[in-house]
Amino acid sequence: MGKRIIPATVRRICYERDEYTCQWDGCDLSRTKGDRVNLHHILPEQFGGKETPDNLITYCDIHHKNKHIEFHSFYPDSQGILYKMNALTKKVLSKIRKELGVDDGYDLRPYLYFLTKNNTFRTGQLKTIRAALAGKDVLFVSPTGSGKSVCYQMPGFLAFNPTLVVSPLKALMKDQVESIWSKKIPTTYVNSDINGEERKKRYEFIRKKLYKFIFVAPERFESRDPKTAFLYNKYSYLVIDEAHEIEMWGMAFRPSYRKLGTLRERLGNPPIIAMTATASKETQDKILESLNIQNAEVVVTGFYRSNIKILIHESGEDKHTTNKLDYVNNVIKLSQGQKILIFVPTIKSAEELLDSLRKSGTESELYHSKLDKKAKMKIQNKFNGSQKPELNVLISTSAFGMGINISNIRHVIHLSPALSITDYTQQIGRAGRDGLQSYAHLLYGPKDKGLLEFMAELPLNNPNFKDIHQYDDNDLERVRAMLKQQVNDMYEFIKQPEGKEWQYILDYFGEVPPSFWEQNGKIIIDIFIGLTIMLSLALIIKLLKG
Ligand SMILES: [Zn+2]
Ligand SMILES: [Zn+2]
Repeated sequence: MGKRIIPATVRRICYERDEYTCQWDGCDLSRTKGDRVNLHHILPEQFGGKETPDNLITYCDIHHKNKHIEFHSFYPDSQGILYKMNALTKKVLSKIRKELGVDDGYDLRPYLYFLTKNNTFRTGQLKTIRAALAGKDVLFVSPTGSGKSVCYQMPGFLAFNPTLVVSPLKALMKDQVESIWSKKIPTTYVNSDINGEERKKRYEFIRKKLYKFIFVAPERFESRDPKTAFLYNKYSYLVIDEAHEIEMWGMAFRPSYRKLGTLRERLGNPPIIAMTATASKETQDKILESLNIQNAEVVVTGFYRSNIKILIHESGEDKHTTNKLDYVNNVIKLSQGQKILIFVPTIKSAEELLDSLRKSGTESELYHSKLDKKAKMKIQNKFNGSQKPELNVLISTSAFGMGINISNIRHVIHLSPALSITDYTQQIGRAGRDGLQSYAHLLYGPKDKGLLEFMAELPLNNPNFKDIHQYDDNDLERVRAMLKQQVNDMYEFIKQPEGKEWQYILDYFGEVPPSFWEQNGKIIIDIFIGLTIMLSLALIIKLLKG
């Protein structure tokens, strides 16, 4: 952001080119006095950006601040912007309530449309939101990408008091804040990335209750900064993102998550909305126990993928079993032109497989953590067909394949079992994102289990492991046992009779698959009502742009 002066002639050119509308979302700026309309520098000055029309773009005040989310210390009018946003949020709520005659307890789709531009709820969302609105504690367990955000955003949006969101990752925090802000809902985060002056302002506005959502890391409550006291407010909801980190013996465990039960008490026991993409039935119970929650609504959804058929094969060198390489070659031969993703446990095994495939005439590439950003991008683009030559067979290390997001992967092949049911479910979830019939092949051989157990324990060999997690020797042994148990669960899964594979996974997470009628009946009704709502909502969206 610059305290520079853009020449009036340049301003005029930009405004006219952009027709006095915010280029973010079409907000109407024709009534704002000409020289007060915001022009944003696409390339900032410190990187050589110039005051020329090709480097300037018209934004409304609020959307412009979204580009400079740390603007409080810079703009003297920042409090005014928050008042403006609060007024807008209230206006939208009352429009939806009054003009559409919508009752918060009944039809929530107009709010869904406002927050996400979708007009149908995904499985589990409505149940979670209704429970939260009824003041119940909720634990929502669903794989990444299944629309968790709206499950806390809607209750928070509708509530009178602010919502506190505890989130472990700074990058995640900033993304969420920007996404909510772009809907003109006042939101902020406090963490060590922001400078002292900015943080001071944010605390001041938190004290004045000017934000609807406040994001913090759990460690914030242990900070020595006396201003942290401003966080002890009255909240409508306490949201806990990545709630599996509460689980004491988990790998990603953050000690501060252990204290969230106490924090909740200190905040006067607001209802909790806890969310995670990965928690077995057992972990779910531990999360609830640690938060001191007795009667939570637990919603587990999205693990079951009816279009993925799981095929498990024992492999070995003798003639009664399948040879892994022969199997892979067969799948490749039988599925010409289809996308195949192969998971391997180590880079070494990946290189060996690549070598063998190339020898038998199959073009393939390796995807793993040691590649730089550019190389990864190139492989992704070749695999999704946007860059030539198109790649159909990709080999990835298990730890890394989660980054691959291509909708038409037909086959996911595991050359050895995954380290846990959770990992396995996430990895086969890469297949068939487009909803078409797809296959998950799992091969296991006599040597795999030893290797898996060795790999599962690798993180424990880090000399700092105990310090990072504040573990003592007993804790360490428990972690070791837990990791071993996860590998055992995987082998338990492998032994399931044919046709029972998904049942095992669903039981593991505690998911009840939706019935056919529920899925289809709901969609038909939703499309019908959705149309009427969308028409009325066009008016509200217009109001926001004005
Ligand atoms: Zn700017
Ligand atoms: Zn705008």
